[in-house]
Amino acid sequence: MSHHEIPTGEKEARFAAQSVIVARILENGMRAYSEEITDLDAAFSTDDKVIRCIDEGTPGGVHLAGSGILMDAAQLTASLRAMGATGITSHSHCGAAGLYAKAQGLDPSLRYVGLV
Ligand SMILES: [Zn+2]
Repeated sequence: MSHHEIPTGEKEARFAAQSVIVARILENGMRAYSEEITDLDAAFSTDDKVIRCIDEGTPGGVHLAGSGILMDAAQLTASLRAMGATGITSHSHCGAAGLYAKAQGLDPSLRYVGLV
């Protein structure tokens, strides 16, 4: 068992706990469920305001495909300013960057497009 693996008994307990939540959401809707959560804002706030690609597998921060490379530039810029982003990371062999390169007529075999 790796250190990330959840013991079987705990898996069953977690499944049972989330099943109750899912049943309540299915019965009353997500809006009603979200109104019961007193600290809901905490789920959508973070002290780590570095933009990361969803592929990077790094904890924390804000994850966007290709660190936002596929978004409209003006919309991305406005969003980053509004949230107070402190940085953007990228990684080699990024699938979203490959899509961007292909859409822009760039050489997709490079598989790495730097953000500017
Ligand atoms: Zn990526």
